Amino acid sequence: MNEAQLLRYSRHIFLNEIDLDGQEKLQHAKVMVIGCGGLGNACIPILAGAGIGDLILCDHDVIELSNLQRQFAFTPLDIHRSKADVLVDYLQLRNSELRITSCSQKITAQLLDQYLPECDVVVDCTDNSATRHLINQACVQHQVPLVSASAIQFSGQLMVFDARLADSPCYACLFPLMQQEDKSCSQNGVFSALVHQVGAAQAAEVLKLIIGFGEPSVGKMVQFETLNFATHQWQLTKNPCCPVCG
Ligand SMILES: [Zn+2]
Repeated sequence: MNEAQLLRYSRHIFLNEIDLDGQEKLQHAKVMVIGCGGLGNACIPILAGAGIGDLILCDHDVIELSNLQRQFAFTPLDIHRSKADVLVDYLQLRNSELRITSCSQKITAQLLDQYLPECDVVVDCTDNSATRHLINQACVQHQVPLVSASAIQFSGQLMVFDARLADSPCYACLFPLMQQEDKSCSQNGVFSALVHQVGAAQAAEVLKLIIGFGEPSVGKMVQFETLNFATHQWQLTKNPCCPVCG
């Protein structure tokens, strides 16, 4: 690490839990984030700021005016541009040393098969259950840890799975594979501050997984409730009959 890097990351390096070793782990890590909307806009700049050396950002959506209430990397000049492309420009301006790849195609099993073998962690910031199941299946198959989150109205959820561990549940252990009716932010609304609270928690879990500090969060579900400022936590168990990991 050169002098400028030591200075840039010094506030993390000062933390005993991170130190120089942890910072170097971040520098050599590769993280794929799927979804560059609300959660992605909260989570991705934290991962980049922390110095994750290699980021792959995936989203096939373009920016709309209604995104700007919570997706703060975007400006009115970015409307109709690809979310993934604009986020790459936004981050590259702040740290040109990071390797950031934009993927503005709709996520498919083939794309996941292409990227996942090289990834240390996958972050699910998407907004529908079909894509969540697709990502989960690929993470189980390629044995890559998955940090999954969702946010709608005033409630958010965060879950961490790690297919490398025999007793870790997966997303399909909890939610059935059949098509679920998804609540959308466009129809139901979402509170801006909640999205940032959950996205920041997602980034924290990614950094903990890569560096290996703090309490392991694998197999836990945390529920965020903004209206009464509460969080609830559950320990999840693996379903031995799970069609994906069982
Ligand atoms: Zn499972």
